[in-house]
Amino acid sequence: MKSIAKNLLRIKQSIPSNVTLVAVSKTKPIEDLQEAYNAGQRIFGENKIQEMVEKYDILPKDIQWHMIGHLQSNKIKYMAHFVDLIHGVDTLKKLKEINKQAKKHDRVIKCLLQAKIAKEDTKFGLSFREIEEILSLQEISELEHIKIVGFMGMATFTDDQKQLEEEFFSLKTFFYNQKLIHTSDNCNLEILSMGMSGDYPLAISNGSSMIRVGSSIFGQRNYNS
Ligand SMILES: *Cc1c(COP(=O)(O)O)cnc(C)c1O
Repeated sequence: MKSIAKNLLRIKQSIPSNVTLVAVSKTKPIEDLQEAYNAGQRIFGENKIQEMVEKYDILPKDIQWHMIGHLQSNKIKYMAHFVDLIHGVDTLKKLKEINKQAKKHDRVIKCLLQAKIAKEDTKFGLSFREIEEILSLQEISELEHIKIVGFMGMATFTDDQKQLEEEFFSLKTFFYNQKLIHTSDNCNLEILSMGMSGDYPLAISNGSSMIRVGSSIFGQRNYNS
């Protein structure tokens, strides 16, 4: 068996069946995605809209494409006809733009609000308070072409297990709390996207239901080639 298929199988066997695996294929060539596809993988995550569109055009159409990168509003239109789930929504303005573009294709696009849980300045995302404010807005219910289905979080880049655990746990607690308060036609919090190659076991033990794994499946990324 080739290594991508082997890696996928190993990870799938090590995670609970109710945790969804997103194969993060950014920077990787079509052949690598095809190999993962042949091994049964159907959910792929990309962080650049242009790159995702190019791959979408070539690969089988039963793939579910997730946008996991920082979103640029002016590019949302290029993926609105096919994107399944957008992980990194961090402003009301972007929710409105996604709604507008999804409407043109008569679709409903699922969205995760990105929460800032890392202690670093560089990570994007909303504070818990800002998420609460957005979910409380009356106008959210008027955005009929989006559905807010959960939250996404990225932990600090650190080896400190205790810190990682605290960050994941804080988002899990907030998620379950908000899930009880906010339910409507286009807001149903069911997905908690946390965990990458380096920290997904810890994320799962702290409530993650969706992990985004790249290098552990496809190998290290080479940004120079
Ligand atoms: C690249 C990326 C991942 C995957 O990272 P790995 O460490 O390669 O598993 C997960 N989430 C986001 C948002 C990413 O940009």
